[in-house]
Amino acid sequence: MTSGKRIFMVFLGAPGSGKGTQARMLCDKLGIPQISTGDLFRYNLKNGTKLGLLAKTYIDRGELVPDEVTVSMVEDRLTNPDCSGGAVFDGFPRNLAQTVALEKMLAADGGVSLVPILEVDDDVVMRRITGRRVCRACGAVYHVDYSPPKHEGICDLDGGELYLRDDDHPETVKNRLFVYYKQTSPLIGYYFAKGLLAEIDGMQAPEQVQTALVELCRARGIETAG
Ligand code: AMP
Ligand code: ZN
Repeated sequence: MTSGKRIFMVFLGAPGSGKGTQARMLCDKLGIPQISTGDLFRYNLKNGTKLGLLAKTYIDRGELVPDEVTVSMVEDRLTNPDCSGGAVFDGFPRNLAQTVALEKMLAADGGVSLVPILEVDDDVVMRRITGRRVCRACGAVYHVDYSPPKHEGICDLDGGELYLRDDDHPETVKNRLFVYYKQTSPLIGYYFAKGLLAEIDGMQAPEQVQTALVELCRARGIETAG
């Protein structure tokens, strides 16, 4: 973390661009938490909360959960003391209304510091997502081709069962990509105009992507460790 200033980063990129994995790795080095709205919804769903049940109807169709619900969930998350140094957002904001809401939330801290965008071709995204498997217990992410677990269907870390997210089925992925281009891609221009956007080639190996992100942080005066 840099001298007292809170660091807020927004990861942009299509579903399957590697945002979640890369954000998680970078967070360890920045010493700030990752805030993934998708993970927060899934956590609520798993625990059968009202929020989770509401979100499910949208998630299953690959559509966005209404802004009021999503924004207040993020506001709530930001009050947690672990955000004292800032946070890395992954999957939020997803449209312009959420972007404006985030700006308000971070006004006292000078707003977002940096917006990396992971660029990946659509066909690669499709292959990545439909091969993705997630641990039911700890949320670790594997891929049947690129990063398979030691034993098929079982998490290396805790023996948890690996599953294909309902919204990772090909038809839903197509709709999620459509929603991304329609609703989320305008954010690219928005953050570019603010001088915050940084393009990263998301087709590289995961370690190379991470190296590029660390270099980017250093170049922008954001300290990383490890
Ligand atoms: P993700 O894991 O980021 O791909 O999110 C999975 C699903 O959760 C999305 O397809 C949406 O239905 C919902 N979701 C996640 N983040 C948001 C957001 N910022 N706004 C609205 N819906 C979201
Ligand atoms: Zn696990």
